[in-house]
Amino acid sequence: MNNVLPVIALVGRPNVGKSTLFNRLTRTRDALVADQPGVTRDRHYGFAIHDSRRYIVIDTGGIGQDDEDIDAQAFAQTTAALEEADVVLLVTDSRQGLMPGDRIIAEQLRRMQQPVHVVVNKSEGQVGVSATAEFHALALGDPWAVSATHGDRINALLAQVFADLPEPRAQSTAYHGDAIRIALLGRPNAGKSTLVNRFLGETRMLTQDAPGTTRDAVASEFYFDDKPYVIVDTAGVRRRTRIDDFVEKLSVVKAMQAAEQAQVVIIMLDAVSGLSSQDQRLLSLAVERGRATLLVVNKWDGLDNKQREKLHADLVKRMGAFDYLPLLFISALHGSGLRELLDAVQASHKAAFAELNTSQLSRELEAAVEAHAPPAIHGRRIKLRFAHQGGRNPPSIVIHGNQTQRLSDEYKRYLMRRFRERFNLFGTPIQLFFKNSE
Ligand code: GDP
Ligand code: GDP
Repeated sequence: MNNVLPVIALVGRPNVGKSTLFNRLTRTRDALVADQPGVTRDRHYGFAIHDSRRYIVIDTGGIGQDDEDIDAQAFAQTTAALEEADVVLLVTDSRQGLMPGDRIIAEQLRRMQQPVHVVVNKSEGQVGVSATAEFHALALGDPWAVSATHGDRINALLAQVFADLPEPRAQSTAYHGDAIRIALLGRPNAGKSTLVNRFLGETRMLTQDAPGTTRDAVASEFYFDDKPYVIVDTAGVRRRTRIDDFVEKLSVVKAMQAAEQAQVVIIMLDAVSGLSSQDQRLLSLAVERGRATLLVVNKWDGLDNKQREKLHADLVKRMGAFDYLPLLFISALHGSGLRELLDAVQASHKAAFAELNTSQLSRELEAAVEAHAPPAIHGRRIKLRFAHQGGRNPPSIVIHGNQTQRLSDEYKRYLMRRFRERFNLFGTPIQLFFKNSE
């Protein structure tokens, strides 16, 4: 596989510690980074960093089990997730020892192309080879004793995993250097290719694929008002469910790869079907990755005024913590709302790359604290002294003070709102970092 981000999949029996390991891997971002408050993290897919290399983690446990047809779905989706992985970690439990279920999974994994590492979890306090000895019987190489809860030997495991992976593919530089790179995501039939065709002009037809082939991401460059854009339409994955019956399903991993390479993510949904759980998942993943993100409702022409009002109210309500992201209504087919859409792309891109002046940041922090001081903890005030910018895309703000680890999520949200309004940072997530000077 030749992905921009390598994909690591975790498989194993229930209760061996896959989701604990998933959480540990996806939280190894800089300890200073405040989690995006109010955003529910995806339980199965996450971005992670090891030694400044980004990657994607999939926890296959429970994938598909939110759906109705539990067993068949879960199995098919786990298989699909494994197919998308560059490396598989077979997680086992040192306390239980080698179990028949481990052998069954190992048997399946041996038939796959990807490298597999056996991870013997819950090995805290156990030294030497004793913890892993019996797992050699899986014939998948030397087992790794780790502890997901304590973090023991996880970095050494990752170092080994990454040593075996090919270098990531470089991003394409074939486009105009100033072009804003847009990832267009959404369920099949939302109207993505119709929109791209609109932007390219009616005369240019995109290549149509033969049924049954896996369409990949299609990148197109276009100009609008003399400004260059590159838009990548990430197609779904087509799978044969029954003979001659192909369903197209958006691959979450492909969507994450596209978001990685984009500067602005557009999540397009169909006005008639509304916001699906898949759309919400894409929204939170794009924000988790720190991308400027727009929610675009297509096929607006298909609704009457009453339906429009209802959908609009519903979306505003359900966007909740994402209320700083633009919500646009278009008709790709009739070409309405496209200028507004690209204006919002420009504005979000500008916000994502904003330069924030240090003294203005500190003044805003001071004003925020003056208007609403952080609550005292055990009689001691949390002090926030000054702020400066930590980075761009997304904008990050470093706040110096003391006892900042005691700040509530609610207070962090308040600070974010103040900074967002003061510096017009709409359309992009922002990150707050805290540093204690005591
Ligand atoms: P999953 O079903 O494979 O996703 O397993 P979970 O991550 O939900 O973990 C199952 C149980 O094992 C939980 O009670 C975890 O706290 C516990 N657990 C996970 N990792 C470790 C570990 O490294 N050491 C110990 N002692 N317990 C662990
Ligand atoms: P994709 O799978 O997301 O690329 O979706 P397509 O662009 O292939 O569009 C799916 C269907 O929706 C096609 O029949 C389009 O003609 C139709 N469609 C796309 N945009 C609109 C729109 O704005 N209004 C209406 N009524 N139909 C649309």
